[in-house]
Amino acid sequence: MKTTTEIGLSLVIPVFNEAENLDELIRRCLEVCLQTKRIFEIVLVDDGSSDASPAMISRAAEKHPGQIVGILLNRNYGQHAAVVAGLTESCGEIVVTLDADLQNPPEEIPKLLQETDKGIDVVGTIRMNRRDSFFRKFSSSLVNSMVRRATGVRMNDYGCMLRAYRRNVVDAMLQCHEHSTFIPILANSFAGSTSEIPVQHEARTQGDSKYSFLKLISLQFDLLTSMSTFPLRLLSFLGTTIAISGTLFGVFLMVMRFAMGTEWAAQGVFTLFALLYIFIGAQFIALGLLGEYIGRIYQDVRARPRFFIQEIVGNSPGIQGKK
Ligand code: UDP
Ligand code: MG
Repeated sequence: MKTTTEIGLSLVIPVFNEAENLDELIRRCLEVCLQTKRIFEIVLVDDGSSDASPAMISRAAEKHPGQIVGILLNRNYGQHAAVVAGLTESCGEIVVTLDADLQNPPEEIPKLLQETDKGIDVVGTIRMNRRDSFFRKFSSSLVNSMVRRATGVRMNDYGCMLRAYRRNVVDAMLQCHEHSTFIPILANSFAGSTSEIPVQHEARTQGDSKYSFLKLISLQFDLLTSMSTFPLRLLSFLGTTIAISGTLFGVFLMVMRFAMGTEWAAQGVFTLFALLYIFIGAQFIALGLLGEYIGRIYQDVRARPRFFIQEIVGNSPGIQGKK
């Protein structure tokens, strides 16, 4: 991992079969970066494309030495893995991620930089008049509200990859070695301060979305499991609810039996149901307990750093010795 902070701005862009978009993407990104008057690098990560993208990236890197870096992965690992690969090689003080399909206009980058210049760690974006299908918009609004509840971080749009991160957050993310990562959420878990700004969103003009329905589902699972072990706890809640309703049903049957006589409720058949509910509930509770342990194992196996020290002020001989 490089740690040079000479470079002010790194763009990290995952590319998967985007040959039709690359030329325009590179042209527009270079233009924007030059306007910012910062030392910059554009890191293009080819995620195992089968079209001309890797060759085009290599050519661009040769043509713009010191400005464009190409990282070619040997096969397709998925957008977020590709972004992580780009982050490991990036060395800018500010890192901006965006999509290669020009749905995130590079011209919006200076707006993000204005925010990071205020000292904000993670700058998210809200897509104004989002140009995606109704299904995509609907499912992402569901997911966004779920994430807000689970993480407690009030951001409106987790799906938009046009985002800016400060170097300390990037370094923190790189210390997380878990396989299924969802970068915006991971970043927020290390961000001291976040903000969110509105940006334009364009329709995809060239090529198709690289997310099939199945890939979207697997992404949602990555997202869900990356942010919490709450689904495991849900088992205990479910079990308790079933067991309590079974018990209440049993009590109700008993009262009614005394009131209405033995003939009532099919001569005890319903009592069996009540018992069954209680046992099923107990099983779920047991599963939920197992889940609690698994959740803790999961947290430990991921071995995310527990905290990050921003700065140490003052010194003692002990701390100096460790440096
Ligand atoms: N992408 C990638 N690997 C993949 C799928 C997508 O690197 O396996 C890249 C893709 O080239 C694009 C970005 O991730 O730059 C977002 O993909 P896409 O535009 O297809 O997603 P959508 O806009 O439909 O959510
Ligand atoms: Mg897209």
